[in-house]
Amino acid sequence: MDFDVIIIGAGPGGIFSAYELTRLDPKLKVAVFEAGHPLAKRSCPIDGDRIKSCIHCSSCSIMSGFGGAGAFSDGKYNITNDFGGTLYEYIGKARALELMRYVDDINMKYGGRGTKLYTTAGSKFKKLCIQNDLHLLDASVRHLGTDINYVVLENLYEELKEKALFFFDTPVESVAVMEGGYRIHTKDASYTCEKCVISVGRSGSKWMEAVCRDLKIPTRSNRVDIGVRVELPAEVFSHLTDELYESKIVYCTRQYGDRVRTFCMNPKGAVVNENTGGIVTVNGHSYEDPAKQTGNTNFALLVAKHFSEPFKDSNGYGESIARLSNMLGGGVIVQRFGDLIRGRRSNPVRIEEAFITPTLKATPGDLSLVLPKRILDGIIEMIYALDKIAPGTANDDTLLYGVEVKFYNMEVQVDERLQSCYQGLYIIGDGSGITHSLSHASASGIHVARNIVIN
Ligand SMILES: Cc1cc2nc3c(=O)[nH]c(=O)nc-3n(C[C@H](O)[C@H](O)[C@H](O)COP(=O)(O)OP(=O)(O)OC[C@H]3O[C@@H](n4cnc5c(N)ncnc54)[C@H](O)[C@@H]3O)c2cc1C
Repeated sequence: MDFDVIIIGAGPGGIFSAYELTRLDPKLKVAVFEAGHPLAKRSCPIDGDRIKSCIHCSSCSIMSGFGGAGAFSDGKYNITNDFGGTLYEYIGKARALELMRYVDDINMKYGGRGTKLYTTAGSKFKKLCIQNDLHLLDASVRHLGTDINYVVLENLYEELKEKALFFFDTPVESVAVMEGGYRIHTKDASYTCEKCVISVGRSGSKWMEAVCRDLKIPTRSNRVDIGVRVELPAEVFSHLTDELYESKIVYCTRQYGDRVRTFCMNPKGAVVNENTGGIVTVNGHSYEDPAKQTGNTNFALLVAKHFSEPFKDSNGYGESIARLSNMLGGGVIVQRFGDLIRGRRSNPVRIEEAFITPTLKATPGDLSLVLPKRILDGIIEMIYALDKIAPGTANDDTLLYGVEVKFYNMEVQVDERLQSCYQGLYIIGDGSGITHSLSHASASGIHVARNIVIN
């Protein structure tokens, strides 16, 4: 065999697998194949000036490369079983939490020391939420911030490059089962290994589907989350964000009984474009460095859509809605809450005259022409519910950017070791459909490494 272990994908899942494998057994021959660039070469060409929209690079620097989709993220590591994935269903709640804490220790060791760990434990907001028909989920969140997250990744790479062999700009095209192991094929070569860890994240979801189809690995799917990103003056949420940083709050709508939840809260942050295969959606960032902070806080309000038979393409549904906003607005649409509830589009003058300065240049428009009624009604209901615990949320000038879509990979059938129906073939991280977050994906990498080495 060329290698003891081949890891496909150098996102958090792949990185933490490589870290733990080489730590536990320095003699192991480990190779990591990554479709994208090394961290230092990752750069999106969209500068908002010369290049305004996606030019479809052969490898998207936002989603691919060392650090995976999380490299330029806000670096929020949520230590919880309440959201971020269902890893605990496979490995147990206590173990999942232990691994997430272990990942946090590693992040601290490699440059994260000094960053803040927030927690909902004992928070007075739990009671306030319940009194207003809202539900605050339990979590501790380490906020590295986009800047420190990058430093941690740089340091981890410095350490790992001496211990594992990295093949960048080398997408794996296929995986074949052979006697006693696996053979992976790239464009120019093929390599063999005894054990193979697949950690290809969201960007590798279509490829993962093909691998499962070819190898007849069972899968199941059917969820997509659709909503908007809310931006308001930081003061409106400061009592919550100062204490908790990120609060995950769930609301069950009276009209339809749908669940709407807050997601990815960025105090004093900025709203940003996200590009998924050429479709522009919205996301948010924030920085630890006060010099980079803004006067606004942003967070997503998302409604989960689960489909039943015969419809199977939940991600296609989400993509179509995002495409509609791109068709009307040329990208992301922004609308004042006051305009939305009065049934009129926002225009440049209304946005200009608002008492809030948008942090993302988006096209003023009408989100009611984009989002399905049921989803939009749920979002409006939740904004009024949030207004009770954070007065000002339902102000006319609150900005809504659309659309925000969270795509989910189909769930691959694996056992408690995260091993597929093939012995020695492990599927982890967001590519497995089991995790949807930095901490869960990283923890799945540690879990699999320990299973491989300790057996
Ligand atoms: C803008 C943004 C902000 C985010 N912010 C947060 C946050 O604050 N907190 C949080 O918990 N989560 C956040 N997330 C989600 C988080 O980044 C992911 O959950 C996490 O990165 C998943 O890790 P992973 O290793 O499973 O996959 P990924 O990070 O997606 O990594 C997979 C890697 O595999 C590579 N790959 C794919 N196919 C192949 C192939 N065939 N051959 C070789 N390599 C391949 C890809 O290039 C990629 O680098 C954010 C995501 C985005 C896009």
